[in-house]
Amino acid sequence: MNRRNRFLWFSAFVCCSVLPEQSRAQSRPAADLIITNAKVWTVDKSLPAAQSVAVLGDRIVSVGSDADVATWRGPQTHVIDGGGKLLLPGFNDAHVHFVSGGMQLDNIQLNDASTPEEFARRIGERAKITAKGEWILGGNWDETKWNPPNIPNKELIDALTPDTPVFVSRYDGHMGLANSLALRLAGITAKTPDPPGGTVVRDAQGNPTGALKDAATEYIDKVIPPLTHDQRLKIVRRALAYAASVGVTSAQHMVASYEDIGIYSELLQRGELTTRIYAAPSITHVDDLAKLGIGHAFGGPYLRVGALKAFADGSLGSGTAYFYEPFLNQGNNRGLLSEEMHPISLMRDRYMKADTAGLQICTHAIGDEGISTILDLYTELIKAHGETDRRLRIEHAQHMAAKDFERFAQLHVIASVQPYHAIDDGRFAESHIGHDRASRTYAFRTFLDQGVRLAFGTDWEVAPLNPMLTVYAAVTRATLDGKNPNGWFPEQKLSVAEAIEAYTIGSAYAEFQEKEKGSITPGKLADMVLLSDDIFTIAPEKIRDVRVLRTFVGGRMVFDAAAGHQ
Ligand SMILES: [Zn+2]
Repeated sequence: MNRRNRFLWFSAFVCCSVLPEQSRAQSRPAADLIITNAKVWTVDKSLPAAQSVAVLGDRIVSVGSDADVATWRGPQTHVIDGGGKLLLPGFNDAHVHFVSGGMQLDNIQLNDASTPEEFARRIGERAKITAKGEWILGGNWDETKWNPPNIPNKELIDALTPDTPVFVSRYDGHMGLANSLALRLAGITAKTPDPPGGTVVRDAQGNPTGALKDAATEYIDKVIPPLTHDQRLKIVRRALAYAASVGVTSAQHMVASYEDIGIYSELLQRGELTTRIYAAPSITHVDDLAKLGIGHAFGGPYLRVGALKAFADGSLGSGTAYFYEPFLNQGNNRGLLSEEMHPISLMRDRYMKADTAGLQICTHAIGDEGISTILDLYTELIKAHGETDRRLRIEHAQHMAAKDFERFAQLHVIASVQPYHAIDDGRFAESHIGHDRASRTYAFRTFLDQGVRLAFGTDWEVAPLNPMLTVYAAVTRATLDGKNPNGWFPEQKLSVAEAIEAYTIGSAYAEFQEKEKGSITPGKLADMVLLSDDIFTIAPEKIRDVRVLRTFVGGRMVFDAAAGHQ
């Protein structure tokens, strides 16, 4: 049966479900795929649990008991025995940097370097196998794991990298360390000013130490040669295979470049796009998207555009998240508004343009005043343009002012949050901002209690893409240093069901796709993941070890642990 006939038939079925069972069974086509004998958790309140799912084309057609769904079986139906394992809707990561993530799979790994010496050693080893003049990038170093936790400087690596430019990033993406060659290529000297929204870290004599914060990293970005088309294609393919292997069936790519979107489009044409992508270019490109005349979620089931990503401030770890009160351990520093907020009217104008064009706005905001300032701008926007279903988002929504929860809910702003950051930043947040502010950090429970919609994501490459780590983080809030086995601010823990809901239908809502995906419901896209263990019943601390057995996107098996990548 061709696609069109299937679709016509399917529409007829949906409209005429009052037909007697017998005549329906005779006239309908058989399913392409049936997964039987599974513990299906649907995230659909009308039928939360089931045993079996039938798929026709790329859509789910039946969910129920093994016997019910078996009526869809025909001679050509591919039947998969779920082995009694847990079957969930595919995970939808609401905030990823998909290409940086793919790059990271190849890049140097510094995150678990537990001393500055180990950090330097790994960079030296990498330089030995790197062609002369080629850059060493990535890294995700984390100095908070060192004793003392000092920000690294170029002296640590210069002697090991005389001919290799190095710019390795801090794990939060808000700081990087350049070696002397990289500084020279970028023309950064003692005379280089701090750009708005950025800092060139300097020693007592005023010379750059190599560490660059936020907007200052752009000095270096400008001299790193851009990826070639083939490099980017290879990276995206690698990211797609990896996403399939961890059960991520949809990814919302924040700050996607036009080149990234071009690669997705190329892979879509070839039928190779195995993760559904919603691409959000930088809001600095608002004029381009407005000119195109497309609104939010424009495109098809595999590739959509129409959201814009903005930045209000920096991060907690880099001391650049924007707070009402200073950090506890950094003099008068209370963070920075981003370059895009200088002046704030620049952001307001871009919001107004985006909203007039029907584009969706996603704004990174981490510090309490950063978040509050964005809520002010969103309020102005709604006042100016009227209420409509625009699904404004705040990405991270990390440190909330007590006064802002209610307003967050009233404005129907979506909290697009990354629970893994809670167990990561939770290691040091209190020393940076104190107990009171820390108590409203990653306040997932308070958000739900206030009626705020949550969307879950990872911020990959900043944090791991594996959804099991995110669910684990939301459910246990056990910090990575092992110091809070019962949870860091345990009152903010979520249940497994709540975490899955935020990661599936919650993220789908955040991209205007909750009618198309996010639950195992007849009529929706057949995006599903079969897990090695039942995360509802195992000990919560075991959730992080759970593996994906099979991943389906549109009914197509894109990962099979038994067979490797397909
Ligand atoms: Zn991000």
